[in-house]
Amino acid sequence: MKYILLSLLLVSSLFAKLNITVAYPYIKEITHSIAHDRVTITALSRGNWDPHFVVPKPSLVAYLRDSDLLILNGASLEIGWLNPLVKSANNPTIQKNANGYLDLSHYIKLQDIPTSTDRSLGHVHAEGNPHFILDPHNVIKLGKVIMLKLALLDPKNQAYYQKNFANFKAHWQAKLKSYDTKMNKCKGMMVIQYHELFNYFLRRYEINSIDNIEPLAGVSPNPKHTLKLINTIKNNNVKLILQDVYHEHKTANFISKKTGIKVVDLPHDVGAMRGTNSLDKFYDKLTGQVCR
Ligand SMILES: [Zn+2]
Repeated sequence: MKYILLSLLLVSSLFAKLNITVAYPYIKEITHSIAHDRVTITALSRGNWDPHFVVPKPSLVAYLRDSDLLILNGASLEIGWLNPLVKSANNPTIQKNANGYLDLSHYIKLQDIPTSTDRSLGHVHAEGNPHFILDPHNVIKLGKVIMLKLALLDPKNQAYYQKNFANFKAHWQAKLKSYDTKMNKCKGMMVIQYHELFNYFLRRYEINSIDNIEPLAGVSPNPKHTLKLINTIKNNNVKLILQDVYHEHKTANFISKKTGIKVVDLPHDVGAMRGTNSLDKFYDKLTGQVCR
């Protein structure tokens, strides 16, 4: 009887799927490209939500309780919502520094690292800008990190994950080449954005973001700053206002009306807006909206 039970346990562990919970849809997409249906993946947020302020609904705790792996963006992007959920889930496997905890920001060279964390400068991201997924050149790097983690936690599928990653890498190398060519004609363009959400993308393609609609990170627009922006636009050859999907649009529309420059909506994650429901479509849309 004991042996039967033991072998049943062994067999079920051989066929058990890894249960993965991820913070954002883009992480789900990358993980899915490498693991396909050999794992179960749940994203805790939607692509059209403000990634800084996901509502920490108690229903999300159940996913974390059953997870073998938690993959987060990190660099404090989840600071306002994820920690209490992980705490409530009380699952030792996915605690910080445990094997089932993967912080993607540890594998990226962060930009915009503040020299001061003075709160009067706004709600600055203290470790640096966490919005690194906006640079498509980070996709392969993140895919590799995720592949290595999956192979470690689920060695029986290691070869499968490696093979899928090789395909993923080849696919993205070709995509990056086409984006680099497409974006080349917009080099040097001047834009303004709402929050410093698109910095990694803009720097990659040498587009200059000369100011933000929010006067300080995380601080709502005010009339004085908005008038200053209108003057900045009039005195410089600013081409576009880059608007994210989750902030109010009226300030951008007002500035547009006063200056005649166009507002474009940009996705910040997979599923942020119509026509962005895969990683490919997300970057297709992002590059296409900025550089036509
Ligand atoms: Zn931010």
